[in-house]
Amino acid sequence: MSRTTDTSDVLIIGGGIIGLVTAWRAAQRGFATAVVDPDPGGGAAQVAAGMLAAVTELHYGEQTLLGLNLASARRYPDFATELTDLTGHDLGYRRCGTLAVALDADDRAHLRELHALQRESGLESEWLSGRECRKLEPMLAPGVRGGLRVDGDHQIDPRRLTAALMAACERAGVVFHRVWAEHLDVVRGRAAGVTTTDGTALAAGQVVLAAGSLSGRLSGVPDDVLPPVRPVKGQVLRLTVPERYAPFLSRTVRAVVRGSQVYLVPRENGELVVGATSEELGWDTTVTAGGVYELLRDAHELVPGITELPLTETRAGLRPGSPDNAPLLGPTELPGLLLATGHFRNGVLLTPVTGDAMAHVLATGELPDEARPFTPKRFALSEQPA
Ligand SMILES: Cc1cc2nc3c(=O)[nH]c(=O)nc-3n(C[C@H](O)[C@H](O)[C@H](O)COP(=O)(O)OP(=O)(O)OC[C@H]3O[C@@H](n4cnc5c(N)ncnc54)[C@H](O)[C@@H]3O)c2cc1C
Repeated sequence: MSRTTDTSDVLIIGGGIIGLVTAWRAAQRGFATAVVDPDPGGGAAQVAAGMLAAVTELHYGEQTLLGLNLASARRYPDFATELTDLTGHDLGYRRCGTLAVALDADDRAHLRELHALQRESGLESEWLSGRECRKLEPMLAPGVRGGLRVDGDHQIDPRRLTAALMAACERAGVVFHRVWAEHLDVVRGRAAGVTTTDGTALAAGQVVLAAGSLSGRLSGVPDDVLPPVRPVKGQVLRLTVPERYAPFLSRTVRAVVRGSQVYLVPRENGELVVGATSEELGWDTTVTAGGVYELLRDAHELVPGITELPLTETRAGLRPGSPDNAPLLGPTELPGLLLATGHFRNGVLLTPVTGDAMAHVLATGELPDEARPFTPKRFALSEQPA
């Protein structure tokens, strides 16, 4: 037997950064809002590097996603100011730019193509010779063959961002249920809340599924509505730059080494984040010797001096991947159930625009223009015969 202890206007399943920003913005609109999550403020953001890399993360075939990424990047300065003013939290938001470099002729050809795509897309990025790259970042390896300077790709500390979102939610009166949602409750063809693992029924006018890489696993969600989201594992290292080496790097430095992405993200507090592997291994979050070895080997080729730095943390997290690498936002075919999931490798970047879009759709029933291409219904439609 379940017991109802609480009813809200909006119930959010999952308190990662996406669930939290949705809850905060919904509460600001006057909705009585609750979040169900055994560990709100945990999730992938505890691992993520926090690059806000709309331009350097551009890939062929992802121009629609680029529009949303840029819309979110544009909102970041005001979003960060609002959150800091409200909570007093320093978010580690750093407008430092990014340098993407090439280590060999193949990398350079690949980077030239990316540069052409960026220019076709009207994005700002500047080609630099190897010497110019090293002038900007003297710790780079002597073999660097050229690179792209992108002054508009910044960074934030996702752990600090999460802590600030938790504080903002608490101030806005969001209620936290620290327990798993076990089952979506559907009443007369409409999502009506969830039953939790301790047997409590939480009722709500609208339910938002924001459970990250677990979003496709909630029982009670009809099969044709379950989001096609899968976990993509990423291992990350954290090193510390001692005072005597500072400034070690002044901006994010990244490269593709033997086909794998490697990046170094320097924080103002001396932390240096090195990431990330990309592995399709289900929900496994083991840190492996091979993962750590590959990251250190590739990062060392890029910036040889990193082997001098203390290694302070190794960790793995799960990106919520979707079939087109873009998020699923807004109403589903099940009335009362909305999605905010599938943010894959750009969830930190997409936090501001997701919060705004979800609050808008919760209030009006319609996605704002910039979020319309990301309706979950796009996957259902693509499966219909032509
Ligand atoms: C290694 C790595 C590096 C990354 N680097 C970047 C980067 O540089 N820039 C960037 O923009 N993005 C980056 N990302 C991506 C970003 O971290 C994610 O897209 C984002 O954090 C996803 O947030 P989320 O809230 O959707 O999901 P999650 O963080 O997975 O949170 C989901 C939450 O839902 C809860 N939950 C799940 N199921 C249930 C249930 N049944 N009941 C209750 N609660 C439930 C979980 O406990 C969890 O707290 C990176 C990710 C990784 C792993």
